[in-house]
Amino acid sequence: MAYTPKKIETKWQRQWEEEKAYEPDEGLERKKKYILSMFPFPSGRLHMGHVRNYAIGDAFARYYRKQDFNVLHPIGWDAFGMPAENAAIKHGRHPKEWTYSNIDYMRKELNTLGISFSKTREFATCDPLYSKWEQEFMIKMFEEKLLYRESTTVNWCEDCHTVLANEQVEEGCCWRCDNEVQLKEMDGYYLDIKRYADDLLGDLTELEGKWPSQVITMQKNWIGKSQGLEFVFELTEASKAKLGGQFETYSVFTTRPDTIYGVTYTALAPEHAITKYLMKHDLLSKNVSNKIAKIINMTEIERAKEGKEGYDLGLSVIHPLTQEEIPVWTANFVLASYGGGAVMAVPAHDERDFEFATQYNLPIKRVISGGDALPYILEGTLENSDTFTGMKNTDAKAQIIAFFQTKEVGKGVTNISYAIGV
Ligand SMILES: [Zn+2]
Repeated sequence: MAYTPKKIETKWQRQWEEEKAYEPDEGLERKKKYILSMFPFPSGRLHMGHVRNYAIGDAFARYYRKQDFNVLHPIGWDAFGMPAENAAIKHGRHPKEWTYSNIDYMRKELNTLGISFSKTREFATCDPLYSKWEQEFMIKMFEEKLLYRESTTVNWCEDCHTVLANEQVEEGCCWRCDNEVQLKEMDGYYLDIKRYADDLLGDLTELEGKWPSQVITMQKNWIGKSQGLEFVFELTEASKAKLGGQFETYSVFTTRPDTIYGVTYTALAPEHAITKYLMKHDLLSKNVSNKIAKIINMTEIERAKEGKEGYDLGLSVIHPLTQEEIPVWTANFVLASYGGGAVMAVPAHDERDFEFATQYNLPIKRVISGGDALPYILEGTLENSDTFTGMKNTDAKAQIIAFFQTKEVGKGVTNISYAIGV
């Protein structure tokens, strides 16, 4: 017997429709099963990726119906936000008209596939009935302080009047219109997902052996939890005077408190308030100011592609334990978004710091023994580290944090790099 899809599929799809075969019943007697596939974005046409994705969910739903579960397998449309806005700009149509006409077309396509979605539960995330509750939810989160307002630097396209994700900036220009992207300070709302970092990490351990290990690693890196020491560098009196008394200290975060005695310089992000003050008050040469301004106009990704670049800011800070004077630099690899935009540098035990120190002829001080080659990034015994000399570097971490806490010049903190903008 020949398989004639037009004939056979149409026949059975009509019958399922008449019998309302895929509508869950309202009764509570049978065991319930909720099977949710990711909502498609109403881009206009289905593609093979959709077919593959929804066939898998459909197989699950049908399997559980055969087991006499009361199955709810809904479908909806991820129809709100920047993709719809951008597509509407591109096609010169109103976003609402563009979105709903695409949904109508794609629904027809989905129907011909015979996927067993409930037809009575469908919605689009731009429907007022849905967005109303979404807004209510946002207000609730704001009240619970799960949503907070913060000013951050974003990529901005003046032509499109939109914020761009880092991936949407191509060689400093907007991917859509090729206009030069500006960095702009802008207020935004963020979800305080950091509070759930431990829960998320805990749940990842349950997936070990079930998920590919590289996916678990990616998830962990994405959450970006690191434990370390936060402390302040105090500027020397001369440096404070140079900065017009506007700055006394700045805070740094490190995951390597065990290498604290090996700090030979410190570096600020080009966007750091101190760097900006120096530029604004002509306290750097014109040439250096221009070069820093150029870095500020690059995205984090673009900076990472460049070689290491930095400039001596002509300032010094005092090492919190040795009281030595340490030079202050600005460097293109120090990110404003991480740990307050300032780092301590330990060239003897960090590859990046070593490369930078070698390039700019900065001092290198070894504080962990083992092997001759530098940088030495493996475990070892502390040396040149005052009372901590002779201790295993891994054991010294907690002790050095405790020492900072006792002297009230620093504290142990957990830094989480993950935040969601809304
Ligand atoms: Zn643009």
